[in-house]
Amino acid sequence: MRNETQGQGRTVLVTGGSRGIGAAACRLAAADGWAVAVNCARDRAAADAVVAAIVGAGGQALAFQADVASDAEVRAMFAAIDAALPPLGGLVNNAGVVDVATRVDAMSVERLQRMFAINVFGSFYCAREAILRMTTKPAGAGPGAHAGGAIVNVSSAAAKLGGPGQYVDYAAAKGGIETFTIGLAKEVAGEGIRVNAVRPGIIATEIHASGGTPDRVRQIAPQLPMHRAGTADEVGEAIVWLLSGRSSYTTGSIVEVTGGR
Ligand code: NAP
Repeated sequence: MRNETQGQGRTVLVTGGSRGIGAAACRLAAADGWAVAVNCARDRAAADAVVAAIVGAGGQALAFQADVASDAEVRAMFAAIDAALPPLGGLVNNAGVVDVATRVDAMSVERLQRMFAINVFGSFYCAREAILRMTTKPAGAGPGAHAGGAIVNVSSAAAKLGGPGQYVDYAAAKGGIETFTIGLAKEVAGEGIRVNAVRPGIIATEIHASGGTPDRVRQIAPQLPMHRAGTADEVGEAIVWLLSGRSSYTTGSIVEVTGGR
């Protein structure tokens, strides 16, 4: 355990916590004293493995399967977390998808709807539920401790690069996440809730294979300023700092974790 534990007695929900950056954030948040709600969409076994690693290291964690693009599933997941874990104090909107490389003039309606439903709407649904539980504003009855908290959104360097010829839809969704971060941070700053984002560059995870380019990291790494991709843990470290009280005067920030890209 670190000396400056910040999550003691509170729960953080990490969406897409079963793999990659989300799984790293789960493990590092647990080491920082958070009880961790590990969300996955389909791969329950992977989420259970993250939970087992945290519990094996002396932490507290449970897995919650829900598609963040479904408002009903998100509501049910938060109710289940309320019933099973300490009060919510953190949310990491990490769940995200890419699609195969395509020009804008060839993008289907189905592709666009999935891209924005998971990457943007899902973050709004989860943030709404988290704010209802964390806001210090007198709100009467309702779940949660109303003791403030922190939200960390996961953007992408694509938001500034644009993803031309590859995935402008994904880049635009992440641009939306950055504007969401700036606006929401101001909206809830007076209610004890900080909202920030991380902007990862090329990170070695399975997401590249799901976009049809399993070799992407190996191909791009030599062209990156540090001549290497980042690791999920390197992004996770920025996420847990933004969750923690160590970043208590930081809100509305987009933290680059791009290795200078
Ligand atoms: P990953 O290895 O592909 O993992 C994606 C995670 O999201 C999995 O846990 C997956 O769960 C979950 N997920 C997918 N769709 C979901 C849904 N509808 N509802 C709930 N969970 C869902 O991805 P990653 O590389 O760690 O990426 C994590 C975040 O970082 C994403 O927002 C991504 O856009 C962003 N990012 C990644 C990179 C990079 O180079 N890796 C760069 C910039 C930004 P299941 O396994 O159950 O489907």
